[in-house]
Amino acid sequence: MVARAGRRHPVYGTRTQSPAIWHGMNEYEFACLCTYVRAMADEVGLRDWTFTIMREPAKGDDLGAEITVTYGRRHANVSVCRDWNSLPDHERRHIVVHELLHCFTNAPHMRTEVMLEDLVGAAVWPVVEASLRMDMEHVTDAIASALAKHLPLPEWIVGDDMPIGEPWVGPVERAT
Ligand SMILES: [Zn+2]
Repeated sequence: MVARAGRRHPVYGTRTQSPAIWHGMNEYEFACLCTYVRAMADEVGLRDWTFTIMREPAKGDDLGAEITVTYGRRHANVSVCRDWNSLPDHERRHIVVHELLHCFTNAPHMRTEVMLEDLVGAAVWPVVEASLRMDMEHVTDAIASALAKHLPLPEWIVGDDMPIGEPWVGPVERAT
């Protein structure tokens, strides 16, 4: 994987006067998030997948983000936590890569669960399932740690110095 931190992706949206989707995320920031997830998906080999970025924050308080792969489709729903934009860039990058990698691990994970559930029986299954899920999280996160540092950071401005009312279609630049 080649580092391409300087590569920028266009974001379509109006930066200022964007209505809030929820506290900590407005329409422009949401557009940036959508663009970033799409760009990162392309980077990790998910060009043939589609993603729906949910307009509601992730439900779990301890989750940076969550992804739900749609059964039978190369599609997943992604939601991020309420304080997403206050997380450090490198943390958001890691989280996005981690969640996207679940698109690869979901199929073997689900297949293993289906096979094991019948084999181990109902009494033991909850323990085996919890162990398997933890193992899959560790594998996913280890790969994300190795991969994410070679990928672009989510560089966009969270501020209000763009022209009011003008759609912003250029490269995202960091505020100085
Ligand atoms: Zn995970």
